[in-house]
Amino acid sequence: MSTETRVIIVGAGPAGLAAAEVLAEKGIKTLLLDENRQPGGQLLRFAAAAGTKSLSRNRVGQKGRSLMACLQSSKIDILTSAQVIGFQAPDRLWVDAGPGGVRELRFEALVLATGARERFLPFPGWTLPGVISSGGAQLLIKGSGVLPAAEMVIGGCGVLPLALAGEVLKNKGRVQAVLDESAWADSLGLLRLLPRQLPRVLQGGLSLGRLLLAGRRVRHRTRIVQARGDKRLEEVVTAGIDARGRVIPGTEREIETRSLALGYGFVPNIELAQEVGCDLLFAPDKGGWVVRVDECLQSSQDLVFAAGEPTGLAGGRKAVLEGAIAGLSIVSRLKGRLESKDPRRLAFLQGRRQQELDFESFLNRLTRVTASGYCSLSPETIVCRCEQVRLAEIKEAVGRGLTTVPGVKKATRCGMGICQGRTCGPILTDILRLHPDLPAADPSPFSVRPPLKPVSVGDLAEANV
Ligand SMILES: Cc1cc2nc3c(=O)[nH]c(=O)nc-3n(C[C@H](O)[C@H](O)[C@H](O)COP(=O)(O)OP(=O)(O)OC[C@H]3O[C@@H](n4cnc5c(N)ncnc54)[C@H](O)[C@@H]3O)c2cc1C
Repeated sequence: MSTETRVIIVGAGPAGLAAAEVLAEKGIKTLLLDENRQPGGQLLRFAAAAGTKSLSRNRVGQKGRSLMACLQSSKIDILTSAQVIGFQAPDRLWVDAGPGGVRELRFEALVLATGARERFLPFPGWTLPGVISSGGAQLLIKGSGVLPAAEMVIGGCGVLPLALAGEVLKNKGRVQAVLDESAWADSLGLLRLLPRQLPRVLQGGLSLGRLLLAGRRVRHRTRIVQARGDKRLEEVVTAGIDARGRVIPGTEREIETRSLALGYGFVPNIELAQEVGCDLLFAPDKGGWVVRVDECLQSSQDLVFAAGEPTGLAGGRKAVLEGAIAGLSIVSRLKGRLESKDPRRLAFLQGRRQQELDFESFLNRLTRVTASGYCSLSPETIVCRCEQVRLAEIKEAVGRGLTTVPGVKKATRCGMGICQGRTCGPILTDILRLHPDLPAADPSPFSVRPPLKPVSVGDLAEANV
């Protein structure tokens, strides 16, 4: 890193790029880090590879084009394939950027724009080959132009199943069924947010239209209760659920299939913020554990800002707004003031962000997990797929008085595998919080320590810290 670098941004998705654009405009030397080979995060990464013409014409797509242009103009220093694996107080990050080993980078101000990952709900058979995540399916389609299978069942809740069904049909695949745990009336909440959310309504309408033309419809209030198969997926068992999320006996149905894609919403990536010591907040209407920020996006740590999904799940538009707000807030702190029209620009962005927070509540209500989601699980259901920990072992640990997330982790090894609890951590939190057979426990995230991401022993051995 150049010695003049003053700001480090972790995450080159819409939030990180928007922060970098503002800082570049103000002449503040900034380094953008991302673990992927291409910048752009979940929404813009494929456009970076395929050229910005592939970006949609909506507002995030338009903004994406200008952000990518700013990157190409080389006003922004960027290091890709670089994962931040640790933090050394007060002002150093440990970065693994491949050959040369882990190095230490200093910052004056830090932006955590680390995005989100997919959330999963377990059920018997969810670890069978042939069962994949909606995000994984999207990655194959958008990244490589390959369908996961010629025909597939898509299930879960929230906006992802319908969006994926639209993608599959657009790419000439067949959709056997789209199963959604939420009621169709829940989606009407989006209409209340018109006209600001018109592009999202139109996008949903387009996917729905494609589905109807293919002779399919979304089966609402339907849960996937089991995936069956010998060695790989052969059949999916579904069941109707009532308004409280309980399975309605006698509604079970089998669908023969070799491919099932699941999407149950997202989980904010807060682990780096945890490591840096930022205060967190448990807010189900924001997506679970999020970084607590003020209206300038500053966290509880001085000159550490968070933007995008880590402050609450609400999509690309909020991420772009928050990135720009964090950028301007840093300019104000490092230069001691904002120039001419910037205070008004900051107030405008903050007002627009408030409007996006309404969408945030809507989105996270659609994917909220209820206690009933867990009561039909059999004791053999695998919760931690890396360490093969089953629900029965978790219940047994709780029975021995280990009622907290760290307690269950130590007793069962749940979360100690290669994914470091990224998949099962939120599931375990919800089981301990909500399972009707267990005493309600306070939610708590897994504790974190470096390395925050898997890193090779060779890179650690060559560490330059
Ligand atoms: C699997 C998936 C599929 C999605 N599909 C859609 C969709 O179809 N339509 C839609 O509108 N929205 C979709 N979203 C949501 C959308 O991607 C987000 O709303 C948007 O990208 C938020 O922007 P962001 O900048 O906050 O985060 P992101 O775009 O996620 O960017 C964060 C970046 O930070 C990087 N990062 C994280 N931790 C580290 C670290 N320690 N070191 C280095 N880099 C790090 C990540 O790899 C990522 O590139 C999807 C999200 C996911 C997770």
